[in-house]
Amino acid sequence: MERKILQNINTEEAIELTRELIRIASPNPPGDNRHIAEFLVKTLMKKGFHSTLSQKEETQVNVVARVKGKGGGRSLLLNGHMDTVPIGDQNKWTVDPLGGECRNGRIYGRGSTDCKSGIAAMIIAAEAIWKADIELRGDIILALVAGEESLSENGTGYLLNEGLISADSVIVTEPTTLPAEYPTDQPLQIFTASRGMVWLEITVEGKAVHAKIAPQGVNAIEKMSTIVLALQHMSSNLYHPLCGSPTINVGIIHGGTSPNIVPDHCQIILDRDVVPGEDPMKVTEQIQRVLHKLQEEDNSLKATMKIISIEDPVEISQDEQIVRVLNEGIKALFSVEAKIGGMIGANDSRFFIKRGIPTVICGPGITTQSHQIDEYVETRSVFNAAKAYALTMIRFCQ
Ligand SMILES: [Zn+2]
Repeated sequence: MERKILQNINTEEAIELTRELIRIASPNPPGDNRHIAEFLVKTLMKKGFHSTLSQKEETQVNVVARVKGKGGGRSLLLNGHMDTVPIGDQNKWTVDPLGGECRNGRIYGRGSTDCKSGIAAMIIAAEAIWKADIELRGDIILALVAGEESLSENGTGYLLNEGLISADSVIVTEPTTLPAEYPTDQPLQIFTASRGMVWLEITVEGKAVHAKIAPQGVNAIEKMSTIVLALQHMSSNLYHPLCGSPTINVGIIHGGTSPNIVPDHCQIILDRDVVPGEDPMKVTEQIQRVLHKLQEEDNSLKATMKIISIEDPVEISQDEQIVRVLNEGIKALFSVEAKIGGMIGANDSRFFIKRGIPTVICGPGITTQSHQIDEYVETRSVFNAAKAYALTMIRFCQ
């Protein structure tokens, strides 16, 4: 039965579908994905799947297709996002970002890696099972979501909040494949953990005076520089085996009005990564303590801190059924187990894991290609992912 299904994986169509999806622009911002959603509904219909549309925002449409099982089995949901980051400076691209050009085993274009190839692979996998005319016991759910590049409140978050999707386990099809130059027998990785993050805004208030009498004022930019340096020295000894060490990045700074005025205001916004095992609230307290200490040492330093957003890190056990079944499938297909890893950025797995649904990330896209100029995916990875998904669907839902 498994062999028959794997033979049904239509590699030509997997490539064509990826290329077609790249050609339908879905940049976020603005996040309007109505065209690609409409195309996917038609594609799913042609392949024999019924799908439903739902949206919180009019322009951000989610597509959910369900292959009903006969009952009594585990259900598996595959989740991939239709939106992409914007193209950026098109002059820097050497290929048409919306062309879906295919050459030398690569498909190029915005969204090729993140995450349109993942969507193509899951549809081709589900179609292979449908064509084999096998009735599984559990349901297979394909959730093609909107708004992932803007924190998913209109996509996966919305679908879960409204009770429009649920499953016993989930595969998020974000890029987890190693690039070809990486020496490995098995480039398809399984990620069981993801970093979270804390975004903080720190404001320093100073005292404005004319630059010629600067010592009588309080220079908010100079005061902020001591904070920035102190943050850089806040090294964390923490090391997570799958997610590495957390990073801190001051990404935005504003302050001052004129070279001849001592600035009375300076503001930074920083991103502090949070790895599984760390509590984001404790991390913010730690940074608050650094501010307190600096203010104790310098009574002219007046700093306040505000939390802008918090995403919890997430992790599941490698003993979860979905990890085992997917990895056994990969081993059966490619004679070597997948490497288990962690995702450096936040992704939709956090919504499922927080609700207690074991979720892995595994997709054909290349981890280092997301959001890049000349983004590409390797065609062989699209086939490999489609095969791994199909085998996991049968084994998990039978
Ligand atoms: Zn993505």
